[in-house]
Amino acid sequence: MTKEIVLVTGGTGLVGHGIQSHMKKYMGKEFIFIGSKDVNLCNLEETLAYFQRIQPTYVIHLASNVGGLFKNMKYKVEMFEQNMRMTMNIFHAARLVNVKKLVSCLSTCIFPDKVEYPIQEEMLHDGPPHWSNDGYAYAKRMIDVLSSSYRTQYGCNFTCVIPCNVYGKYDNFSLEDGHVIPALIHKCYLASQNNESLKVKGSGKPLRQFIYADDLGELILWNLFEYEGSDNIILANEKEVSIGEVAEMVAGEFNVEVEYVEGEDGQYRKTVSTDLLKRLRPDFVGKDLREALKETMEWFKENYEKVRK
Ligand code: GDP
Repeated sequence: MTKEIVLVTGGTGLVGHGIQSHMKKYMGKEFIFIGSKDVNLCNLEETLAYFQRIQPTYVIHLASNVGGLFKNMKYKVEMFEQNMRMTMNIFHAARLVNVKKLVSCLSTCIFPDKVEYPIQEEMLHDGPPHWSNDGYAYAKRMIDVLSSSYRTQYGCNFTCVIPCNVYGKYDNFSLEDGHVIPALIHKCYLASQNNESLKVKGSGKPLRQFIYADDLGELILWNLFEYEGSDNIILANEKEVSIGEVAEMVAGEFNVEVEYVEGEDGQYRKTVSTDLLKRLRPDFVGKDLREALKETMEWFKENYEKVRK
């Protein structure tokens, strides 16, 4: 019998590596991790041809034009258009080759801005997202809309998970476009070499929930192979941490001072509920932030020349 194939789009990045570290558990399957160099998922013909050639049994859809607050503010159009195109093409192709299950990765930053906390899964469309990332957020919300349409119209098993801010090895450590943790790690690395302080944008007061990519990888595989429902599930650690606290942890590792500089704060908080996750996975305990940050920073230092930045 031929092996079942698990195709991971956007699989060469942060979350893809998180999945790679848990795939041993599913030895009978063949995993294929693709990145933007392998196939242009914004192009329908290329996407279709690729799916027809590979014939995936399962798809984990991570491919995304993604970035931190400052990238979201700068490239609203590209983030909307490219994310929409990729999703429409991948879903279309997945249906045509009879994919058994497709799990897509959304993000807690796409929930409504004005909302009651803690945010629950079903509040996704209850109001506009924060202005700073609306291009990205609306495109990502459409993944939920399209998954449910494919389920209803074609009986496809397409579902979504909604992780909070992800961090870890293999992240994009871009100073300009990266998410807060990788951007601060990279800045801090340079600051320590130049005997400068770590320049944190904004007030440091916003609160975020973080999940280690390795933990997220395990949860996504669980969702794909063991979760039998079709409801969206928020994947997050319950504890909220301020940007200032994260900055102190990073600065401590590099022995530099923290300094706050002019910059946008973005959403003050976007606290999500982890009730559903706890109910379905009572055994899940996310890795301690301080410990996982240490691991990430050590990896960053060791691999400085080749990290994405
Ligand atoms: P968000 O969680 O979707 O808003 O995205 P980010 O991961 O980019 O986190 C943004 C938060 O970190 C905001 O409150 C920023 O003000 C703060 N922050 C402070 N310094 C930086 C930085 O150098 N880069 C980024 N991306 N965010 C920063």
